Amino acid sequence: MSVRARERVRSVDLVPSVLAGKIAPIARLLSRAEQGADEVLPALEEIYRHAGKAHVVGITGVPGSGKSTLLSKLAIRLRGLERRVGIVAVDPTSPFSGGSILGDRIRMNDLSGDPDIFIRSMATRGSLGGLARATLDAVDILDAAGYDPVLIETVGVGQDEVEVVQAAHSTVVVSAPGLGDDIQAVKAGVLEIADIHVVSKYDRADANRTITDLKGMLTLGAHAGTGAHAQSSPQATWKTPVVATSAASGEGIDELVDQIDAHRTFLRESGTLRQRQRQIAQRRLLKAAEDLLRDEFMRQQEGDMARIISDMIDREVHPSAAARQLIELVRKAGDR
Ligand code: GDP
Repeated sequence: MSVRARERVRSVDLVPSVLAGKIAPIARLLSRAEQGADEVLPALEEIYRHAGKAHVVGITGVPGSGKSTLLSKLAIRLRGLERRVGIVAVDPTSPFSGGSILGDRIRMNDLSGDPDIFIRSMATRGSLGGLARATLDAVDILDAAGYDPVLIETVGVGQDEVEVVQAAHSTVVVSAPGLGDDIQAVKAGVLEIADIHVVSKYDRADANRTITDLKGMLTLGAHAGTGAHAQSSPQATWKTPVVATSAASGEGIDELVDQIDAHRTFLRESGTLRQRQRQIAQRRLLKAAEDLLRDEFMRQQEGDMARIISDMIDREVHPSAAARQLIELVRKAGDR
């Protein structure tokens, strides 16, 4: 097929090959989803219907905590268990953001050309709120293409990033020794969303101190044995484990796989999974509605919105009242 003919393939026509797990169409649809053009929407709708089977695992931690290194070890281990692993990397500070350093690392580990591991870095932040949307679309695509688990790597700072992690079924928060006195997860505000804590770089002499500090934080009450998911389900209890890992020695990687599997089983057997799915669906719904509304509002930019803004500058209308006017305008435009 010529390049020109290939360009003309509609996104929706890529879906059957994506569902069949074909690499090139998956990569193509991922790119188009990331660009977020209207043309890709019917494809994403179709994909969404087929997704929902994979276990989605969010891995977060501050830059330098060893996430990328851990992720590559974890991926290799999961491949050893014959699982097809999808990875979406959202860390803008990650050494492989937009590139393929992780790909290179994995290549070094003889996984070169393995069709059963698919790594995608979200290169652009796109429009406002676009990162979370594009990332979750990417997760759906890999899920529908048969990858399970799908791992999302993101740095635990910033609203978008936390949003992405909250769309995971299981959240792994990575802390590391040698990054200052505090547990970084606390500063990044991600301590309480952990289902599994990892203390990385266990080969370092100061790792035990980090483990002790972290366990201390966890027993300090509010965070003890809850995790974001169990919190919403008082009858179900998941005791958030602390797993010590060393990417250098390989220690703890098996245990991490076991804990991820155990959390998956817990979600299923406690009935928490459905609840979790509801939370994720609701967040995505509200986010999508927000995006749609914003688009609608921006369409009013030239006319009525400009007038409302002038009224605000002149201090004639309070922002809340102005917002109500704007919503009313959009509603009327919709009725026409
Ligand atoms: P990220 O920014 O969280 O993705 O962290 P990286 O995976 O890039 O790792 C940050 C630094 O920690 C790098 O210099 C790694 O070589 C180092 N590192 C990662 N894992 C380990 C480990 O298990 N042991 C030791 N000693 N260093 C590690």
